[in-house]
Amino acid sequence: MKLDPKALRYMSSDDFRVLTAIEVGSRNHDIVPEPLIAQLSHIRGGSVKKHISDLIKRKLIASESGAKYTGYRLVYAGYDFLALKTLSKRGSVTSVGNQIGVGKESDIFVVAGEDEQEVVLKLHRLGRQSFRNVKEKRDYLRPNQSPSWMYMSRLSAQKEYAFMQVLHEYGFPVPKPVDQNRHCVVMELIDAFPLRQIDSVAEPGRLYSLLMDLIVRLAKHGLIHGDFNEFNILLRSDGVPVLIDFPQMVSTSHPNAEFYFNRDVDCIRTFFKRRFGYESVLYPKFALGMDKEFDLDVKVAASGFTKKDQASLERLMDANGAAAAAGCPAEAEEYPSDEEIVYSDDESDASASSDVKDRADGRGSDICEGGDDDDDDD
Ligand code: ADP
Ligand code: MG
Repeated sequence: MKLDPKALRYMSSDDFRVLTAIEVGSRNHDIVPEPLIAQLSHIRGGSVKKHISDLIKRKLIASESGAKYTGYRLVYAGYDFLALKTLSKRGSVTSVGNQIGVGKESDIFVVAGEDEQEVVLKLHRLGRQSFRNVKEKRDYLRPNQSPSWMYMSRLSAQKEYAFMQVLHEYGFPVPKPVDQNRHCVVMELIDAFPLRQIDSVAEPGRLYSLLMDLIVRLAKHGLIHGDFNEFNILLRSDGVPVLIDFPQMVSTSHPNAEFYFNRDVDCIRTFFKRRFGYESVLYPKFALGMDKEFDLDVKVAASGFTKKDQASLERLMDANGAAAAAGCPAEAEEYPSDEEIVYSDDESDASASSDVKDRADGRGSDICEGGDDDDDDD
């Protein structure tokens, strides 16, 4: 995936208005018609065409013919651009460095944050596979329906950020959350390798206990990671494991909580046996209540990522096979599953973030400002 921060610098303020208008328009239109773009951006006919064609050249939007008209839609690069723009204006991303990870559902970059400190930018890419084939999947889309990859990826990023905040606050070994916008999360860069890449450890029994204790401590706080495996555990050089990747976390009161809990435990048991030849008769078992000390799930809901958001995301992830893809990866697998995600068609982007809403009303500042401010960099 390309993330071209130079585009930020060379974008005119009117290009930016047009791009933002397409984002706003795509909440109610799968393909945004030109007159609507003109109306939302307050830029007249002829000029709008020129900006649209610029944005197509930059591959931030795509032109598409629907049954009734030809219109435009945002593609991931355009959405990335809008998020980067916001994050750079807030100062949480000042320049973009190397890509360090690519998952089926995310791209991970090391970026410079405030004070030039290195941080991690995670771009959530739910539905990416099917989005590539969006043309072939036209049948899955209803008329006037916004692209759900955008909605899903944003919900996923919001969830990850909300959980990371609460876990960090309660002293769990997770990256420190820095910022979140649209489908992006900015967090502390952990100087460590994923357990997946580690061939031997001095004391496997000690690490095994630390990880099982972590699973139990999460459950005592009402939470299950849901994808607790060697890809999502980073091992620092001092031997401390750090947990990442939270979009699939569930509450211990989830109807399938026991299944998810046992799967997390089994992933670790299987991995330790296979990789380190380590087996233990001791492993935690799910017990309802778990002498719960806190209910962090409630705290997460209070932090802004509501139970309703959680339910929407779960429904969408299930529909897209994401839940099935989580769990213990097979030995040879790089990512849990290569099965294609099916484009989901039952959600619209109706609850877009408030800064976007403001722009739709013409009240927000972003749409009216230059796209080529000096606060970005390459
Ligand atoms: P995905 O949802 O695609 O699995 P992850 O959050 O698990 O994404 O990140 C993918 C990879 O990126 C990780 O396995 C790890 O190597 C790297 N990574 C992610 N977050 C961080 C971080 N905060 N610090 C260091 N490396 C990270
Ligand atoms: Mg992961």
